[in-house]
Amino acid sequence: MAERNERHKGLVLHARDTARGDRIIDFLCDEGLLSLFLFGGPKSTLRSAATPFVSAEIEAYRDRRSDFIKLTGVNILETYEGIQKSFSHMQTASGAVEFILHTSAFGGEYSQALAMMTSLLRELDEIDEGHAGLALHVFLWKALVPLGLAPDTSACERCGRPFSEKGSLPGRLLMGERSLLCAACSEERREQGFPVSAMIWFDAEALSCLKMALQRSYGEAAQMVGASSSSSSVRAIIESLAESAAEGPLQSLRLFH
Ligand SMILES: [Zn+2]
Repeated sequence: MAERNERHKGLVLHARDTARGDRIIDFLCDEGLLSLFLFGGPKSTLRSAATPFVSAEIEAYRDRRSDFIKLTGVNILETYEGIQKSFSHMQTASGAVEFILHTSAFGGEYSQALAMMTSLLRELDEIDEGHAGLALHVFLWKALVPLGLAPDTSACERCGRPFSEKGSLPGRLLMGERSLLCAACSEERREQGFPVSAMIWFDAEALSCLKMALQRSYGEAAQMVGASSSSSSVRAIIESLAESAAEGPLQSLRLFH
């Protein structure tokens, strides 16, 4: 048989229209990140069901010869009210999706990306507008772990000196790089010509915030980062690492500035 029908449970991440007026849906499920084709005009019932941020069980028809997947059915399982609360809430959800698409679901960690995205969408309902943007930072920070790109927050990557040691802080993250450096190593890099304007400063408070964020829910971690005296440093570190991981700028982050 050259064709087969299949079913998947997952989340609609994104929808875009082709020049011909057909729609392509990016759908994340445990089995992968699927591009599903949806034919039919604006009045199609499938089109109104398969919209971004809807969890659904879908039916699709796969043509093995062309590896082409056509969406044939959508059964909505869960919708998320939180994204409607404010522009920031919607922007946070879109930013998380942008990162998932840019990194091919954290380098193929489909189940983990799906679980993280679903909990973010559920939690958004409980997060106030002032913290919604920070929830995106927490999402990006947590996502660096499955990507294998989370930096060591306990010691300098270059010389191995623990950040708990006296004189090792304040440290620096060099923008575009992936490791946290102690005071001495960042000073050395500065002497070698690395521009100070592209160094992000961090202290013990910023490091403890980053560590604790991994153990908390999005809402709790966003509140903690918001209340921290090192909030701007924590945000800058996460933005720099996330954009390195995505290998380019993230539009959604820029909109928060
Ligand atoms: Zn060092």
